Amino acid sequence: MRVLITGGAGFIGSHLCDRFLSEGHTVIAMDNLLTGTTDNIAHLAGHPRFRFIYHDVTEYIYVDGPIDAVLHFASPASPADFPALPIQIGKVNAIGTYRTLGLAKAKGARFLLASTSEVYGDPLVHPQPETYWGNVNPIGVRGIYDESKRFAEALTMAYHRVHGLDTRIVRIFNTYGPRMRLNDGRVVPNFLTQALRGEPLTVYGDGTQTRSFTYVDDLVEGIYRLLFSDEIEPVNIGNPEEYRIIDFAHLVNEVTGNTAGVVFRPLPKDDPKQRRPDIAKAKRVLGWEPRVPLREGLRRTIEDFRRRMNL
Ligand code: UDP
Repeated sequence: MRVLITGGAGFIGSHLCDRFLSEGHTVIAMDNLLTGTTDNIAHLAGHPRFRFIYHDVTEYIYVDGPIDAVLHFASPASPADFPALPIQIGKVNAIGTYRTLGLAKAKGARFLLASTSEVYGDPLVHPQPETYWGNVNPIGVRGIYDESKRFAEALTMAYHRVHGLDTRIVRIFNTYGPRMRLNDGRVVPNFLTQALRGEPLTVYGDGTQTRSFTYVDDLVEGIYRLLFSDEIEPVNIGNPEEYRIIDFAHLVNEVTGNTAGVVFRPLPKDDPKQRRPDIAKAKRVLGWEPRVPLREGLRRTIEDFRRRMNL
């Protein structure tokens, strides 16, 4: 297959490039490098089946030749980006999704949308199944990300229903691994950079809010299976092992040997209190479940962070 991956120079996008190349496909990565970096795909330079196109997908997209699948992974995704880049986030998920859907339609390609557990907002149902409609504050600091991803899902379904486009929607839960930006602002890069510098970890609020952490290779496996499945409606991909942030902080300090402890910082507004995927559907329709234990995923991520931090 000839595959277009938007956000291909990003954290998840670049891992998808690796996977599709290793399966023998041809990959075109497209990125405007707003939050992505060519460092993530530098190892692919010169690969005969890989090409990078510097482009902002909110502008008209032109790609030569046939395309069999479009994977739309362009979008800033860290809560630290939400107040800094709200208009870019809104545009890439609204206009960028419109343009990538249009491209898929023109090329007769399958389309896969990277959606998010944020469509569930601060969930009142726990764990979150795909059938839950969510609890989102449209005008809060997370509103632009949550609502633009919800709109992207709606537009994807509209293209499926009106044009018969062959579409897939993955709802991605907190994912971590090598290549995350060191200054990304999300909890895993924050805690790892702090721990590796011997600093106390910044726990927001009292740390009783929960998250579950998926290693990037597990996520990529789920996305790969979803693309080749027949499932049109959204599928959660995430690790159902749930941690309180305070317990996660202690775990990071333990595995890095950091003795500086934790410090408490104010809880950001609209920070979801709990989050854990119900993955019954992914198990049923994809035969997928996560394989990499948190300690092992952290070990691999720490190795990558140490190298990039010159430690
Ligand atoms: N968090 C924290 N310290 C940090 C960064 C994040 O305690 O330095 C908390 C944050 O308040 C949230 C959780 O960790 O409850 C996950 O935050 P992240 O930014 O990774 O993503 P989110 O799941 O909120 O989108």
